[in-house]
Amino acid sequence: MTAPPPDTRVRPATEENIREAARILRSGGLVAFPTETVYGLGADACNDAAVARVFEAKGRPRFNPLIVHVPRPGDAGELVVFDERASRAAEAFWPGPLTMVLRRTAHCPVSLLASAGLDTLAIRVPASPVAREFLAATARPVVAPSANRSTAVSPTTAEHVLQSLGSAVDLILDGGPCEVGIESTVIDLTADPPLLLRPGGLERSAIEGVLGDLESPGRMNETELRSPGMLARHYAPERPIRLEALEVREDEALLAFGPEPLPGAAITRNLSEKADLREAAANLFRMMRELDDPRVRSIAVMPIPRHGLGEAINDRLRRAATPG
Ligand code: AMP
Ligand code: MG
Repeated sequence: MTAPPPDTRVRPATEENIREAARILRSGGLVAFPTETVYGLGADACNDAAVARVFEAKGRPRFNPLIVHVPRPGDAGELVVFDERASRAAEAFWPGPLTMVLRRTAHCPVSLLASAGLDTLAIRVPASPVAREFLAATARPVVAPSANRSTAVSPTTAEHVLQSLGSAVDLILDGGPCEVGIESTVIDLTADPPLLLRPGGLERSAIEGVLGDLESPGRMNETELRSPGMLARHYAPERPIRLEALEVREDEALLAFGPEPLPGAAITRNLSEKADLREAAANLFRMMRELDDPRVRSIAVMPIPRHGLGEAINDRLRRAATPG
């Protein structure tokens, strides 16, 4: 028996392959690359369709917000607003396995799908030299959740990525096994005191040494969790949303899907005229915002199929339609 030929999409992280990987990413492709934590599934964070492909490749049933990666701490200032605490944490821990949730800047070019419609963005500067070379070569902010199918464990080798994602990824940069092997620690600096959203590769005590005590969401009561800014992890429009609409009512905005939008809406946005779920995912959060207009009383949403990315689209619309 002869072994199967090696997959040509797995490439050693040479200078030339890094340049090629960056070219693929810039043209909307998906590139898996090693960081010190785990392998990330990278896409151009400013390209809605590329970000939609990430959710599709992972088969996530939900649009949870993704972490944006940049090669140098100085690159973060254009995307998020740094306060004194954030600057101190960046100084102490970047590059490294710390992700900070901060407010998006007014002109932040990152796709709203990447932050699941939120006004905040999770951002990190990885320490791995291959990751930083790759990120610098792309000259773009890069979203990179772990490079595995939704329910699988995070990959720490190129071989794991190939096994989990197969043909969904365009190229895998092989930089050997990851050093830390677990995800980055995520803290929310829009809260005071900061919240520890996810324990990870950087120890809590190290962060507390620089920022003081971190709050754990698990220990907070209902009222605290509902107060503005606290764990506002799901974007919802102010106006009520009416799902599975078969007609448009007076003073309603319409979120349409497919070639025949319902008539009579005060404002209409079409998620995808050609009924393409990837295109619909790419447009979802921007269009929800555009329809959340003071001139309308509510937002009617046409039925959207539930297969593929339709599952996550319907999940998010259902959450937006249910207050609280
Ligand atoms: P992953 O990309 O799979 O490593 O996971 C990203 C983690 O960061 C998840 O736990 C997200 O819920 C969290 N996260 C990302 N962006 C935000 C944000 N804007 N606000 C709160 N949590 C976030
Ligand atoms: Mg993961």
